[in-house]
Amino acid sequence: MRSKSVTGTRGVVWAGVLAAGIAATVHGQQPAATPPPDASPDPVKILVDRLDLEKFKATIKGLTQFGDRRQGTDRNRAAIDWIETQLKSYGCTNTERIKYDYQPAAGRGTGTARGTGAGEGRGQRGGGRGRAGQGGSAIFGNRGRTGVNNDPNLQPDVKLRELNTQPSAPGPREQVYCTKIGTTRPDEMYIIGAHMDGHGWGEAANDDGSGTALVMEIARVLHSADVQTERSIRFALWNNEETGLNGARAYVEQRKDLQGKEDPPGSRRYPEPKWLGMIQHDMMMFDHGMPGPDGKVSPEQRAEADVNIEFQSTAKMAEGAQKLAWLFKAANEKYATDYPAAVGPHMTNTDSVPFMDLIPAISLRENERGAHIGAGWDPHWHQPTDVYATFSDKDFRLGLNAAQTTLAALAQLTGATIKQ
Ligand SMILES: [Zn+2]
Repeated sequence: MRSKSVTGTRGVVWAGVLAAGIAATVHGQQPAATPPPDASPDPVKILVDRLDLEKFKATIKGLTQFGDRRQGTDRNRAAIDWIETQLKSYGCTNTERIKYDYQPAAGRGTGTARGTGAGEGRGQRGGGRGRAGQGGSAIFGNRGRTGVNNDPNLQPDVKLRELNTQPSAPGPREQVYCTKIGTTRPDEMYIIGAHMDGHGWGEAANDDGSGTALVMEIARVLHSADVQTERSIRFALWNNEETGLNGARAYVEQRKDLQGKEDPPGSRRYPEPKWLGMIQHDMMMFDHGMPGPDGKVSPEQRAEADVNIEFQSTAKMAEGAQKLAWLFKAANEKYATDYPAAVGPHMTNTDSVPFMDLIPAISLRENERGAHIGAGWDPHWHQPTDVYATFSDKDFRLGLNAAQTTLAALAQLTGATIKQ
């Protein structure tokens, strides 16, 4: 379903056409509805049109074959291998891995349930508290229950329960990324990311199979043989988000000082291009509104569903992040087909946080993390019901609209063009 048609055009080419159109209107006629054949098509529109609901769904489905993909398990490692194979098959062949060690803090077992305050594990029960939510947010209205499920028996699907049985073990960890190299500015890049690990005894379909699939689908589209970008783009699938953003933190620690260095000198190769911005995607599909007084959420995607773009107003780079957020909102208004975007100042609890004092960093989500998700607006969050079968096409389509938003913004930021 399309709610908006965009006649992609470029200003210079159109100047004459617009003038002709205005003249025609003055003379009581309608301007021409279709562009003349010599108008150059809008490359952003062409790229956005290459995103596809069924392909997005298939990628989420592919990720769910590894269950909840909990960090420190064989199913998590198998999912990383699968993601890497997919990226290579799209043409993003220069995959690399960040290696780090993860040891859960004392008293936290193997890092199942409770976050360190940075991850997503801090469940809260509704009712009886003040208005303050996470990330500086304010919570109004009804609340639903939140928390991380640790009870295998709450997963009714026996096969899935078995798949999720192996516990997390401390030790070495990996995460994968690949990079589209810019033609004229290979030394600068935007990073788009999502976390591929999950927990809760489901399939982590929404949290965060949806964000992972979004990043993978954009990698696929931008690696079409006829697409080039002036600047570089890195596609990062973080691990250990749920235990406190450990994968993204490891990336920042290991790579931040390598930015913009040519290696070897004179080669025009930049192993770590300068970071221009980081865009995270975490839970993209479920915006069914506020819980009722009974704490229950509607089973239907609400008509007013939107993509929530958040920056963190207390970050050192808040000013640049805010500008980036507004640019994404404008990209949504021009190119998304079904759902609008809203901007908010309380980005929190996801992999963009370790970047936010260094570079402009934003997150895209189904709801605001602090005020909405934190108040129980997504009853499948970290629950056995976060499985592919829970979601309808209206839910998947909200995720697709976030993909359209990010792809459109990114195409403009990196100077994407299509060879005729
Ligand atoms: Zn998440």
